[in-house]
Amino acid sequence: MFPFCRRHTYLTRRIGRVIKLMLQEWLIPATKGLGLRLQKGQVIRVTDVDGMQVADLAAFSDRDYTERLDPGVTMDVLGQMYVSPGDQLYSNKYQPLLRIVADTVGRHDFINSACRPEMYEVLYGKSQHASCYHNLNVALAPYHVPAPDQHYPFNLFMNTVIHPDGRITVEKPLSKAGDYTELQAETDLIIALSACPCSESKCNNYDCTPIKVEIR
Ligand SMILES: [Zn+2]
Repeated sequence: MFPFCRRHTYLTRRIGRVIKLMLQEWLIPATKGLGLRLQKGQVIRVTDVDGMQVADLAAFSDRDYTERLDPGVTMDVLGQMYVSPGDQLYSNKYQPLLRIVADTVGRHDFINSACRPEMYEVLYGKSQHASCYHNLNVALAPYHVPAPDQHYPFNLFMNTVIHPDGRITVEKPLSKAGDYTELQAETDLIIALSACPCSESKCNNYDCTPIKVEIR
């Protein structure tokens, strides 16, 4: 099953002129991924359709695939591990790639790398499990972005808690049905998203559900 895409054309009449606006939207089925090209200035809205579903987001410069979204660099520049509207997300080369323009949740994760088959083997004793690592690689392949040895995404809606004693736990997402985050491209990008297929933990509240994506 592949992400469902719809293209809408809206006509708006303003001061005698007809302005044509395009809106693209996709529904990523539960446990699947999506790749897309996002031009500088375009805004992507990522919506948690049913609530408590994580979406891993990876981004690469459309001009240089060795430049990618880097959570560690972003936390270094921002001096914080949580983002809010107005904050920029940075690349491994310390350049801004995306800007948060709207967010109805306020809790996302920069710490965890993408889930991958080996993680499910080690933590849950399951082999050949679907994973964000695989979904992101499949999503990037049509754009000829080479698969990295691992993805370190911006994990939308993921609720990671660092406790005072140093423990790190993944709790249920705070996102409710219809909650969303909007990000604006600061440069031309290739974006990959994965509706995280982990049903074994609180990460997605033990139930994998779809993610809606729109370019506005
Ligand atoms: Zn995942």
